[in-house]
Amino acid sequence: MDGKLQVLQGDITKLDVDAIVNAANTSLMGGGGVDGAIHRAAGLELVAECMTLNGCRTGEAKITQGYRLKARHVIHTVGPVWHGGGNGEPELLRACYQNSLALAAKHGLQSIAFPCISTGVYLFPADQAAEIAVEAVKAFLQTPSALKTVIVCCFSEADRKRYESLLC
Ligand code: ADP
Repeated sequence: MDGKLQVLQGDITKLDVDAIVNAANTSLMGGGGVDGAIHRAAGLELVAECMTLNGCRTGEAKITQGYRLKARHVIHTVGPVWHGGGNGEPELLRACYQNSLALAAKHGLQSIAFPCISTGVYLFPADQAAEIAVEAVKAFLQTPSALKTVIVCCFSEADRKRYESLLC
C-alpha cells in the first residue's frame, strides 16, 4: 500500500489534517451530528462558501476551505439514508468514500479524516458501514496518489473497536 489507514477515537473537528470529511446532507447548509459540529467549529464563512455550491447529491463529494478548523479543507459528502439496504445504500456509501478520496487526491492532499458516514441519524448498520469504509479506503490506497494518511475518526469506543478488529 502507498498510504496508511489509521483509526482514532475523538472529535474530528480537532484534527490537524489536510481535509476532514463532513457527513453532510444534500443542502450542504449544515445540520446535526458531525455536520453541526464541523459548521460550529469552522464558523459562518463555511456556510457562506457552501451556499455557492448548489448542494450535493447522495454519494458525491464537494470541497471547501476549512476556515477556523485546524483542517485546511472540508470535503462534504452525503451518505445514504438506510431504508433496508435494497435501495443502493451500500453502493452509495462506497461512493462517498471513493469520491471523497478522489477529490482529496485531485487537490494534492496528503492527509484526510473520515467520520463514520451514515451511521448516525441516517441509521446505516455500523458493522456493514465499517466493512464498506475499510474496503473502499484500502482499494484506493492501492493506487498511486499524494494521499499518505487516511484516518477513520470514530466518535464512540464501540466504533473504534469495530474498526480496530477489521484492521488487525
Ligand atoms: P449521518 O447523518 O451521516 O448518519 P451523523 O452526524 O448523524 O451523520 O453521524 C455520523 C457519525 O458521526 C456517527 O458515528 C456519530 O457518532 C459521529 N459523530 C458525531 N459527532 C462527531 C464528531 N464531532 N467527530 C467525529 N464523529 C462524530
